Amino acid sequence: MVYSFTYNATTPDQLPADEQELCARALEACEGSYAPYSNYHVGAALRLSDGSVVTGANQENASYPCGTCAERTALHYAQSAHPTLTVDAIAVAAKSSSRPATKLPFPCGLCRQALLEAEQRQNTPIKIIVATSKEAMVFPSAACLLPFAF
Ligand SMILES: [Zn+2]
Repeated sequence: MVYSFTYNATTPDQLPADEQELCARALEACEGSYAPYSNYHVGAALRLSDGSVVTGANQENASYPCGTCAERTALHYAQSAHPTLTVDAIAVAAKSSSRPATKLPFPCGLCRQALLEAEQRQNTPIKIIVATSKEAMVFPSAACLLPFAF
């Protein structure tokens, strides 16, 4: 058996304009991060089916499990405030010590599960874009990042 999928590995300036804009919104969203423990500030930007963009940032807590990642902050807000809309795409960006991160900010396992369930619930794929200032990867569906999901 073979599991495979196709994704785009490129540089941010080669992304289509709408994806570049979403990445820029994700980087801006890092400003809303509360990450005094990890100093890893993550922002996420979702484009909804009406074209609007919802953003979120990671929120840490002294009791670590209380914290929430940027992706789920944005996703759960979108699902709560706009339950009739679907999520077309999500971009994720990160900053460390106020500089853009150099390592691609891939969603963690919890966020992959949340994105996959949102995708299954809406029955349309959610494009996932992870980017730094130097590289970007675009996955056509949340299912690509979580094979054999719960
Ligand atoms: Zn996460």
